[in-house]
Amino acid sequence: MKCEICGREAKLRRALVEGVEMLVCQECSRYGIVLPEKRAFVPKPKKKPLPYSKDVFEEMDKDLVPDWGKKIREARERKGLSREQLGAMVGEKTTTIAKIENEELRPTDETVKKLEKVLEIKLFQEVGKALIKSKGTRPLTIGDLLKNAK
Ligand SMILES: [Zn+2]
Repeated sequence: MKCEICGREAKLRRALVEGVEMLVCQECSRYGIVLPEKRAFVPKPKKKPLPYSKDVFEEMDKDLVPDWGKKIREARERKGLSREQLGAMVGEKTTTIAKIENEELRPTDETVKKLEKVLEIKLFQEVGKALIKSKGTRPLTIGDLLKNAK
């Protein structure tokens, strides 16, 4: 840092020189009024808004269950619905339902929600929450295993 008046490399202080705030060395500070140390660059801590709402995080945590295609087909058959009927109920084409059942096409979250409702099955698994849960559990010790064996 260089003094804004003489340009000398020195430990600078903030001073009011002819009404202008400047960074000056000790030598030049006598030309103005040295400002109290506290006034020097103290950025006010700003509260940062969270980049995502809680809802978004919850959406992100969701993943489809394994074998979701099979689960949809089985649930549909259990309900005695044809692909056409199911498609009409969730607002998808018959060919789309076929692709979803073959897992050729991942349904949108919106469609998954509709399928869950119509077929009364769970298609989303909450990955995030599952991970948090597993973090809390301590690894099994030999003592635990012995206890379980009894
Ligand atoms: Zn100076």
